[in-house]
Amino acid sequence: MKIATPAIGLVIKTLVMAAAISSALALDIKTGPYASNLTPTRDHSLGLKQVLFIRTQFPDLPTSKRQADCQTVMEQVRQRYVRFSYGRTDMNVTVTAVTYMMPHPSTYYATQRNLEVCLTALMNDAVAAASADYPVDQTGGSYDFVGDYFPPIVGQVGSESWASFGTKWFWINQGGTDQGLNPRIIGHEMGHAYGSHHASLWQTSDGDPVSATGKLVEYGDTYDQMAAAGGSTQPYIDFNPWVKWHFGWIDDAQVAIVTAPGTYQFRIFRFDSATATGLLAIKIPRGDGSNYWIGIRRNWVTKPLEMTGAYIIWGYDVLAHNSALIDCNTPGSNISDSALQVGQTLNDAPHGITITPLAIGGNDPNQYMDVQVTTLFTQVTVQTNPAGLTFTVDGSTYAAAQTFSWDSGSSHTIATISPQSGGTGVRYVWKNWSGGGAISHSVAPTTNKTYTANFGTQYYLTMSHNTGSTVTPASGWKASGATISISATPSSLYHFTNWLGTGSGSYTGTNNRASITMGGPITETATFTHN
Ligand SMILES: [Zn+2]
Repeated sequence: MKIATPAIGLVIKTLVMAAAISSALALDIKTGPYASNLTPTRDHSLGLKQVLFIRTQFPDLPTSKRQADCQTVMEQVRQRYVRFSYGRTDMNVTVTAVTYMMPHPSTYYATQRNLEVCLTALMNDAVAAASADYPVDQTGGSYDFVGDYFPPIVGQVGSESWASFGTKWFWINQGGTDQGLNPRIIGHEMGHAYGSHHASLWQTSDGDPVSATGKLVEYGDTYDQMAAAGGSTQPYIDFNPWVKWHFGWIDDAQVAIVTAPGTYQFRIFRFDSATATGLLAIKIPRGDGSNYWIGIRRNWVTKPLEMTGAYIIWGYDVLAHNSALIDCNTPGSNISDSALQVGQTLNDAPHGITITPLAIGGNDPNQYMDVQVTTLFTQVTVQTNPAGLTFTVDGSTYAAAQTFSWDSGSSHTIATISPQSGGTGVRYVWKNWSGGGAISHSVAPTTNKTYTANFGTQYYLTMSHNTGSTVTPASGWKASGATISISATPSSLYHFTNWLGTGSGSYTGTNNRASITMGGPITETATFTHN
């Protein structure tokens, strides 16, 4: 499996401190073999995964945990993931037979200059040791996921567990008697490696569950695998439908998406059963990159209102984002009554959305809920390709993708300007709008839509020469990738010597007819010598 190494990434740690939960910390891992991948594809989370769990210890810090201890817990993790995914992912787990002795004492790793360096050093040495016996290397080798298990050290890793988002890599380093050998902790860290961020809570203080003045409380959705591992002691936890859909565990066809204003009724089935089938979630775009995801849980027997209501979160267009649980009742106090009950209505007036559970029914494990959704506005996104160029909507100017909530069928003017500068020697020229239309035109969408202004790139070709001749073509803007023939014609008293070219695709040499390719701004200078 390919390892992506994008420029930025996240490493996410789990804080487990008895019952207390600290605020969350996240770190960018920008480079190296364990750099995060913020956009993992579905194949990363689907199918049978080969997992290597590398047991390590330090010269100054031995482990008391045996191979069998690890195997027992990893089997519990495996069973959870099979349940979470309706059997769409599974794990073939190898726990190393040997506890590898790291080449340095624990203090060496704990005192590296930052967490990224510390985690990289730990994994480098764990992989190097295990590679003597298993087909593993810094690409993961034959493995889809690789965990480094070591006795709890502090310093940079802070006696906490970590994972690199959307990659193969996780580090289990936890205090307490189980020292991280716990399916909550390993399952959580592997959740990050699979590509989930934290399950959080939208906490408001004005009585409105979806108040814009609320704030995101990281880890606050304790119904979820990706909340604080310390809070998820019950076996009822699961991933939310948004993440499951991203992972490919829920099909596109199992998500009802509201794409136009209107009143709709859907029957959804519980998503937290290993045998869940049918429609499992409703997605309602809010127009700002967030979406309502509505599902029903029927596993949480210790939370009666969760057993009868709708579980509602905001999931995002971007996977590498925390989800946000909506606490529909007494928002701001506790989330035991977060679920929206039959007959209640959640009203998100600024976004023109209401959600009303109408009825529940069905027998275990096929419980269902009928939900009515009303939306007033079309959600319209306007953007440019390449991103970041200037456009206007109804006369207002924007320089980044923008989403609008409009009354269905209302008329609006989208426009852009051309050309636009991309810096010295670079400009962008408008080609078309997705969906057609002139550079400035009116639209009146009745369904959710994205309008993209597409631009072509041009580079400036500077042609120059010293005395005694002419060159062709003249200086000017050329399309990116265009092939241009250049030539130099000496006057009668001169002869051509050479071209000196600078820029991607330029020509330097003694042929007076040559070809260049516009890979960037180019300057070509012809030199002529007096006879
Ligand atoms: Zn975490």
